[in-house]
Amino acid sequence: MNTFKVGIVGYGNLGRGVEVGLKNTKDLELVGIFSRRDPKQLDTTSPAYHIDELDSFKDEIDVLLLCGGSQKDLPVQAPQLAENFNTVDTYDNHNEIPTHFEKLDKVAKENNTVAVLSTGWDPGLFSLNRLFAEAILPEGDTYTFWGPGLSQGHSDAVRRVEGVKQAVQYTMPQEKMVEDVKNKKKVDYNKLSAHKRVVYVVLEEQAEQDKVKEAIITMPDYFEGYETEVHFIDEDTFASEHTGMPHGGTVLRQGQTSDKQTSVYQFALDLDSNPEFTAAVAIAYARAAAKLAREKVFGAKTVFDIAPGYLSPKDPADLRRELL
Ligand code: NDP
Repeated sequence: MNTFKVGIVGYGNLGRGVEVGLKNTKDLELVGIFSRRDPKQLDTTSPAYHIDELDSFKDEIDVLLLCGGSQKDLPVQAPQLAENFNTVDTYDNHNEIPTHFEKLDKVAKENNTVAVLSTGWDPGLFSLNRLFAEAILPEGDTYTFWGPGLSQGHSDAVRRVEGVKQAVQYTMPQEKMVEDVKNKKKVDYNKLSAHKRVVYVVLEEQAEQDKVKEAIITMPDYFEGYETEVHFIDEDTFASEHTGMPHGGTVLRQGQTSDKQTSVYQFALDLDSNPEFTAAVAIAYARAAAKLAREKVFGAKTVFDIAPGYLSPKDPADLRRELL
């Protein structure tokens, strides 16, 4: 088995997920965690360093797993780090992926590195499955349903409403519509009609339920237009039932193979921990990045560009025997 050495850049939910995931991964060895914060303040027993020390690890690290946020961190960090390292990220701003790709491709090709972008589950495994479904069933429609799952952005938006002490927001697919797609029925799908939003709120003392509810359900861009449920709960219930980070969803395609024959392609995920699963996908792509770099296949790569065998620690002959 090949072994590769990796570093983690950024120690939030995803960075912790990579650290945990690497414990199950025999062929990848963690060299260190690199953070913009004082490494002594990170709650970890792994070797931790300030990010300014990273360049001195250039010859010791095969791949960096970039665990910064998509909005502010990755657009800056990923192109900089790709100058000296092979990298993997989970960049999830779908509209900006082409721009992120172009920037990384230029840097990676100039510096003979591999930069794998937008791994994870969406983008990532969901993207791959949308591609498979469409390529295999060219006549048809693809539907993506997200959830049940906790949306970080919507939870933050509710927490900013006056009178809200704590809050979470779960995105729920409309189960009837999911079933209809699976049962080959026609559906009127759009993102708003296909999902509902369920909010759990702990109120500040004195705050009024009706006012808070109204402010949430009419919030433009976040809740307006969606079917939204708001539940008010106490702090103990919040602490015991709403502090995990579950997520998941389903990619479905109804495709016609001939006039009267319909096939349904389905790929689903049910995740107790969104960051730990996202990290697990990024770890598999880190292995692929290291193999591509060894073969000198430099440049930016998405999940569409990497053959599946590269994700596995097993060699191709074993894969043919065991999994084909
Ligand atoms: P976090 O906000 O937890 O962490 C982002 C960065 O913020 C960290 O790398 C860390 O950098 C810094 N940070 C974390 N905690 C603290 C703190 N207490 N104080 C100060 N700084 C802190 O984000 P997540 O790890 O939850 O998510 C990272 C990205 O993963 C998301 O932006 C999202 O785009 C992506 N993602 C992608 C998915 C996919 O399927 N493709 C799915 C889920 C997420 P540093 O250590 O340098 O300070």
